[in-house]
Amino acid sequence: MIDFNRAPFVGKELEYMKQAIDNAKLCGDGPFTKKCSALMREAFKVNHVLLTTSCTHALEMAAFLCDLQPGDEVIMPAYTFVSTADAFVLQGAKIVFVDVNPKTMNIDETKIEAAITDRTRVIVPVHYAGVACEMDTIMELAAKYNLKVVEDAAQGVNAWYKGKALGTIGDFGCFSFHETKNYTMGEGGALLFQDDKYVERAEILREKGTNRSKFFRGQIDKYTWVGYGSSYLPGELNAAYLFAQLEELETINQKRTEIFDYYHEHLAPLEEKGLIERPWVPEDRIHNGHMYYIKVKDLKVRTDLINWMKEKGIHCVFHYIPLHTAPAGMKYGRFHGEDVYTTRESERLMRLPMYYSLSMEDVKYVTDCLLSYTGY
Ligand SMILES: *Cc1c(COP(=O)(O)O)cnc(C)c1O
Repeated sequence: MIDFNRAPFVGKELEYMKQAIDNAKLCGDGPFTKKCSALMREAFKVNHVLLTTSCTHALEMAAFLCDLQPGDEVIMPAYTFVSTADAFVLQGAKIVFVDVNPKTMNIDETKIEAAITDRTRVIVPVHYAGVACEMDTIMELAAKYNLKVVEDAAQGVNAWYKGKALGTIGDFGCFSFHETKNYTMGEGGALLFQDDKYVERAEILREKGTNRSKFFRGQIDKYTWVGYGSSYLPGELNAAYLFAQLEELETINQKRTEIFDYYHEHLAPLEEKGLIERPWVPEDRIHNGHMYYIKVKDLKVRTDLINWMKEKGIHCVFHYIPLHTAPAGMKYGRFHGEDVYTTRESERLMRLPMYYSLSMEDVKYVTDCLLSYTGY
């Protein structure tokens, strides 16, 4: 069976995990956590990177730092993972869903302004498949209406928009290092931001409401409970695993984009015949090969194709059920305007196997199966 995903392993993970064990310090913010943050600050040109236990938790921290009041509104696409919304719902916010652009499955930036009310506080662009949202337009809207921007860059690690790394453009960026993402530590994430003014509160939030981070830097001589917070810092074993992956940022990226390019090139004839649609990456953006998907005619064709691929030994999967159609989405949110594309396109989309250790022979086999399918 060709899996849909396998967690990447590039080589030095065990060595670094052994080092962490030999250090006999396994709690958070040890040497490997610091190395991961430093590497990302440098690679992605961002002033602050706080490693977290998940992207969900990074989003939660960002939502806290946005200082929302109950009833405040947060704009995001309905085509996303539940965590994007959950983080803000926990703050008492109302979620306002906006339709996607069918060509990228990202929030349609031309439909955001109409959804802004005097309660709107935050826009959350989700960089689907590691292809950037139209950030210039989103940042202009945020400036015009005095809104914060929290980038859900869970899938966008090491992807770029006009020379800027995703996750470094808005007020906050959130990465995921879950095992289904490009770089992993099993479960993990990071909160990124440029502005120094957030450092103190972010550190306190992450360290159970204490100023322990300041204490560790020797800036104060004892630490204490200074505010509310939680425990958002990962342990060193996980950070050691991640560091081995981040050191191979380009190796992993190259392999994934090679797979993407193979699928893209060899599936072109199906698109030319009008049988499928392939993803679109605008020219001013560099994707990271996070995902390769195709879109077929409708839900029926997709279900049949997923089953047929399974018989061929290939695991293909669909993706999000739009949040506004879920029970919690109806309770905590509303869809602004008409759902022209979100539901329709989500029912047509099918993701192909994509992971670091996937062999090019297997990629070819997957492609050949798709080319030989007659049920489109
Ligand atoms: C994976 C993912 C998340 C959640 O990441 P975790 O690290 O598992 O919490 C959030 N948003 C999007 C768009 C994702 O793809």
